[in-house]
Amino acid sequence: MNTSASRGTDVPTITTQRKNPSMCQHQPPCPTAESADREAALLAAHHPEQGWSLLCNGVLLFEDTGELLPNGEIIAPHRPLGTSQVMTAA
Ligand SMILES: [Zn+2]
Repeated sequence: MNTSASRGTDVPTITTQRKNPSMCQHQPPCPTAESADREAALLAAHHPEQGWSLLCNGVLLFEDTGELLPNGEIIAPHRPLGTSQVMTAA
């Protein structure tokens, strides 16, 4: 019985090391961050109020469709065409 003072809260941070995001336990496994199919990975965290989501493979997906890969690579936003004009008919 060793109840030492381990009262540090495990706050998941996105800025600290996330070198090894291969904690995927999904079936089938999510595509890796290096995969062209990386966006198909399941969400690990979703923060719409901050405009980003963290995928299971460690990719940060921003609401403007930009991406930040675990290795620091930045993918430019690639909005799908056709959403530039949002008009709501009254
Ligand atoms: Zn996964």
